[in-house]
Amino acid sequence: MLIGTAIALALLVLDVFTLWHGPQYDLTEVVIDELLVFAIGLLASALWFAFARLRAFNRLLQDLSGSKAELELRVHELDDLQLRLEEEAGNAIGMAEELHEARTQLADAVESISEGFALWDRDDRLVMYNARYRNIYPSLCDLLQPGLEFEAFVRAGLERGVMSHEQDGGIDESVQERLQRHRSSVSAYEQQLCDGRWIRVSKRRTKSGRIVSILTDISERKESEATIERLAMEDALTGLPNRTQFHSRLTDAIDQSERTGRLVGVMLLDLDYFKKVNDTLGHPAGDELLRQVSGRIKDCLRSTDTVARLGGDEFAVIVTNAQEPVAITSIAERIVESLARSFDLDGQEVHTGTSVGITIYPHDRGQSDQLLRNADMALYRAKEEGRGTYQLYDNQMQEEVQARRLLESDLRRAMDREELRIVYQPQFDCRTGELVGAEALLRWRHPERGEVSPAEFIPVAESTRLIIPISEWVLASVCAQSQAWRQSGAAQICISVNISPLHFKQANLAEHIQAALTQADLEPRWLELEITEGVAMSEGSEAKRTLNELKALGIKLAIDDFGTGYSSLNRLKQFPVDRLKIDQSFVRDITTDWDDAAINSAVIQIGHSLNIKVIAEGVETKEQFEFLVEQGCNEAQGYLFSPPLDAEDFAAFVARHDPASITRLSAKQALSSTG
Ligand code: C2E
Ligand code: MG
Ligand code: MG
Repeated sequence: MLIGTAIALALLVLDVFTLWHGPQYDLTEVVIDELLVFAIGLLASALWFAFARLRAFNRLLQDLSGSKAELELRVHELDDLQLRLEEEAGNAIGMAEELHEARTQLADAVESISEGFALWDRDDRLVMYNARYRNIYPSLCDLLQPGLEFEAFVRAGLERGVMSHEQDGGIDESVQERLQRHRSSVSAYEQQLCDGRWIRVSKRRTKSGRIVSILTDISERKESEATIERLAMEDALTGLPNRTQFHSRLTDAIDQSERTGRLVGVMLLDLDYFKKVNDTLGHPAGDELLRQVSGRIKDCLRSTDTVARLGGDEFAVIVTNAQEPVAITSIAERIVESLARSFDLDGQEVHTGTSVGITIYPHDRGQSDQLLRNADMALYRAKEEGRGTYQLYDNQMQEEVQARRLLESDLRRAMDREELRIVYQPQFDCRTGELVGAEALLRWRHPERGEVSPAEFIPVAESTRLIIPISEWVLASVCAQSQAWRQSGAAQICISVNISPLHFKQANLAEHIQAALTQADLEPRWLELEITEGVAMSEGSEAKRTLNELKALGIKLAIDDFGTGYSSLNRLKQFPVDRLKIDQSFVRDITTDWDDAAINSAVIQIGHSLNIKVIAEGVETKEQFEFLVEQGCNEAQGYLFSPPLDAEDFAAFVARHDPASITRLSAKQALSSTG
């Protein structure tokens, strides 16, 4: 437009100039022309302008149409992008759901682990844990949060008295110790918490460096292990240490004695008549007795001493740190005294007692086994000496006891090897000199030692209970022999058999005797049983009942070794006894010892007053016999008339026996018979 106007103006100026300097023109025409030209110029300008605008507009239009396409492209792209985003978002949501699901599964899995589980990261911070883990440390629950440092956790555990200290050191040492263990790649250990629970901890470092910690409560297992261990070391009935623990304690005591130079006393003891308590009152009463006995023994000891039950009614004691043997023997005395007092078993008064064998280390050397054997030998001797006492071990004792043990084993074989036999010692009527009976006495001819005295082997047979089969054999043999003599006409006499205390206490003794009689087809009146005074007169109703049962069989009963016990006349009156046998120890010094003489007279008087015959045994001299006759003794037995004889010799003796040969022995009798 500006250009058009400029052109029109230029043309106008040119026209004016031409007019001014050129031929003359009509001004109006010229002006009109010029105006026309100007108008044309203006028009041209306008047209130019319009054209230019049009072109610009066109260009704009073109530009606009290009932008639209681009916009459409962008929109398209945006749509694509949106689609992709939606897809990605969908994927992300899916993944998030999967992740959530996985987390839930992991949490479920972790919770379902039957042990305590905790995961710690590389920096020893808690990542996750399960409820069981929390249950193991209830007092630390408030701390158990992801991110908790292991060190802080352990420190709190120690400070709050949940975890126990590793060693004697302080909390810091314990924390460091645990931290080190925590960080090691694999560790497994058991630890006891302060409340007594036992936890097994096993830790493992994963490939990614985290630490998986598994905690198992093993308190129950530990408890049963402890129970098993206790049972293995403890006597279930009394709660005392058993044999195993006894040996281990004795070994410790020996070691201690080596260091301190002090003495160790080892005692072994068992109860008298324990079997009887079991048999008569039942096993619960026996158990109760053992419990009470263990309590009483404990009361006699110091807390540093040990009493153990080795089995049955056998107890062992270790006395430590003694300066002198008397410190040990005085304890033994206390135990003997204490157990001699009666026991109350459910209202029932029971008496037992004990003997104690003692060995003292280092006087008697050896390890625990040897010491126990020494004490056993001493016990053996204590019992031999008479119960209710203690005996110290010595070397001579060992020899004696070994010899005794050898005798035991030989005696076991003696019956099978037919080394035992029975001899018969005749018994006579003092007044008439007639043979009235015989006492059956056992003999043992040992293949190497020769004749062994019954005084030596009968107590051995008693203590080993071999006396029972031996006594049964004696009874059967005597019944058979007696019947054989009767049938052959060799002898019509009553034969006495000695009954040992143990045999007398056997249940069904009367039945056994009856069986022996029946077996031999012997009438009961031809058999007499000799029962020692102590056994026959023993307290309680049992002895009386047995005697009555025996008497009811129709056999005769004699009280052997009369005068050595403490029979009261009153009690004697109640017993169905046929004869009293004056013990040979009273007969021996009858002529020189006034006391013995008095006892003999008294026994004879008692017999007469109770209408019981009196027989004196061990009559060796005429003087003794005379005295007995003078006192009115009914019968006599002894070397003066005959030693015990083998069955054959006995039959021969009976065959040639002349009663006058007896009566002649007593001057008084001879006098009265001639007078
Ligand atoms: P006991 O029943 O008092 O037997 C009497 C003992 O005196 C017997 O000793 C006998 O041989 C012995 N004797 C007899 N006359 C005289 C004499 O004049 N002087 C002397 N010093 N002694 C005389 P033995 O045979 O040595 O028996 C000892 C003990 O052994 C017996 O004492 C008895 O208690 C026991 N005994 C013997 N045989 C048996 C048996 O078969 N069973 C049981 N349970 N015990 C028996
Ligand atoms: Mg006898
Ligand atoms: Mg006797």
